[in-house]
Amino acid sequence: MAIYVNKNNGFQLTEPITRECPHCGAHSQLLVLATPTFEVLAQTRPKQAGLLFRCAACNEPRFLRAAIRTIGAERIELAPNLVEVERTRERFQYNYLPDTVEQLLRETLDCYSLGAHNAFATMCRRTTRTALKTMDAAAKLRWQDTLQDVLRVCEVDAVTASTVDTVLFADEGEPPEITPDEAAVLVEVLKDLFYQSYVRSAKLRAAMKMRRFFAGESTGKITPIDRDGWRELA
Ligand SMILES: [Zn+2]
Repeated sequence: MAIYVNKNNGFQLTEPITRECPHCGAHSQLLVLATPTFEVLAQTRPKQAGLLFRCAACNEPRFLRAAIRTIGAERIELAPNLVEVERTRERFQYNYLPDTVEQLLRETLDCYSLGAHNAFATMCRRTTRTALKTMDAAAKLRWQDTLQDVLRVCEVDAVTASTVDTVLFADEGEPPEITPDEAAVLVEVLKDLFYQSYVRSAKLRAAMKMRRFFAGESTGKITPIDRDGWRELA
């Protein structure tokens, strides 16, 4: 993708930009609202330009920043990796996680919210490793299978899929450099893996315990209510 501010016909994107919206959660297109003029950029020659878009799904304003690459006589080229100025924190039901995993996952998601995508990738691997250490030996293979399923269902391209797998699961080398789009996929699959392993399984266990308790009651086989059992359910 290339972004230009042309002398004659103004702001130009060679491809539409889509991003997850912090307001409505949709992965939708960003539509241009306000951009600096050629004259102002050529005159002031700033290092970065501020751009204002709106979310196509919910219409909320989205503020982005782009580095200025070259200032030519006819057009100015902006760097394609747009930085989101305003981001909300990623949410997760942290209370289901063991303490060590919770701390790491919070910092990982904070890196993503700050737009520090390579710090985010490094923390993704560390957090994944720490979580897998608390599980059985087959957990890593299960997580990799789940990841492949999710990526297939969402029709994620092969290069992104391979990058995400390497970031999370490679045993050697540093995590590869990742793009904002790869980071957007990575954050979703990471939350999905942790949700499945900790949150959903805890909720299911609680639901099954409750079901067994009431089943025992309704068949007349009154289960003695011991206080410890109740405390566990609460
Ligand atoms: Zn939106």
